[in-house]
Amino acid sequence: MGLKNLGEFGLISEIKRKFQDMTPSNIEGIGDDCAVIPKDDKSSYVVTTDMLVEGRHFLMDKISPFELGYKSLAVNLSDVASMGATPKFSFLSFALTPSIEEEWCKQYIEGFHNLSMEFGVPLLGGDTTSTVSGSATISVTVIGEVLNENIKYRKSAKTGDIIAVTSVLGDSAVALKLMLSEICPSDYLKGRHNMPHPHVKEGEWLGGQTGVNAMMDISDGVASDITHICKLSDKGANIYMGQIPHSAELVAECKSRGFDILDISLSGGEDYSLLLTIDKAEFDTIKKGLKENCGTDLYAIGEITADSRNVRYIDDKGNDVLQKLGFRHF
Ligand code: ADP
Ligand code: MG
Repeated sequence: MGLKNLGEFGLISEIKRKFQDMTPSNIEGIGDDCAVIPKDDKSSYVVTTDMLVEGRHFLMDKISPFELGYKSLAVNLSDVASMGATPKFSFLSFALTPSIEEEWCKQYIEGFHNLSMEFGVPLLGGDTTSTVSGSATISVTVIGEVLNENIKYRKSAKTGDIIAVTSVLGDSAVALKLMLSEICPSDYLKGRHNMPHPHVKEGEWLGGQTGVNAMMDISDGVASDITHICKLSDKGANIYMGQIPHSAELVAECKSRGFDILDISLSGGEDYSLLLTIDKAEFDTIKKGLKENCGTDLYAIGEITADSRNVRYIDDKGNDVLQKLGFRHF
C-alpha cells in the first residue's frame, strides 16, 4: 500500500501499534497534542514536536524569516497550551539549503527569540545541517510542565458539553488563499497567518478549570480537528454554522471575492485557536473568567452529542448541511 492510500493518520496508527506494548502505562504517547510523561507525584512534562517544510508549510517569498522563526515556535507553544500546560524549553533543528543568506538565518533566530522572550521559553539545543533537496525543513520541539489535575486531553469530552473556540476562525486560511493568488492581504490577515499568537496564557488558565473536559488546538481546521476529539472521546458533535465567529475583515474579503466563508473558516486550518469542550453548567462562568484573566473571548460553536463519531453541521434553520460542504468524515 502506498503512503497516499495509508494516509498521514494511517501511518501514525501503524507506528502507535508497533510501540504501544513497550510504552509504560503511566505515559501518554501518540494521539494527543503532546505526549505526557510523569515528572513527580503532582506534575508531568508534556512534549511536542512539529515540522515545517518549505513548499508544503511555507513559501520563502510569502513569509519573512522573522515571521517564520516566530511561527515555528508558535505552532509548538500552541500544542503545549492545548494540554493546559506551561511551555518551559525548546529545541530547534533545521536543514537549510546551502544558498541561504546569513541575514535570513539571523532574522529567523530573531523571530524565534522574540516569542521565546514573551513566554520565557529558552532554547536549549537542536541540530543544524544542510539539505540537497532544495527545500528547507525546520523541526521544533517544546517541553512544558503541568499539574496532573490540570491536564486536558482530547479523549475526555462529555455528552452535553459546549464546544468552544478562543478566537475568530478562518483569518489565516483567507490570508493564505489571497497570498497564493498573488494578492497582498491586509496587515491584520497576513499577521494571522504568518505570526499566529499562541494561546499560552489561555491554555494555562483553562487547564485550571474543572469545567473544561477536553481541549486541543486548531491546526487543520475545526472540521478536521473536532473529529479527533469525537473519535477519542467516542462522542459526536453538532456544529452550529450560524455561531462560527469571523472577523469583519474575513467577511469583507470573502464577500468581495466570492469565497465560501464557512468552507474557509471550518476547513481552512492554521488558526491556532484552542478548541475545547466545556460542561454546560460552567460555560458562562468560564467565558467570563477567560475574558477577565486573559482578555480573550470564548465562542460557543456547538455541542457534544452521544451520537458516536457523527459530526453534524447545522444551519440556522436546523437543516443538516454536511453533504453540501462535503467535509471529510472519519
Ligand atoms: P498536532 O496537529 O497537534 O501537532 P499531529 O496531527 O501532528 O498533531 O499528530 C497527532 C499525533 O500523532 C501526536 O500525538 C503526534 O505526536 C503523533 N505523531 C505524528 N507523527 C508521528 C510520527 N512520525 N511518529 C510518532 N508519532 C507521530
Ligand atoms: Mg495540536
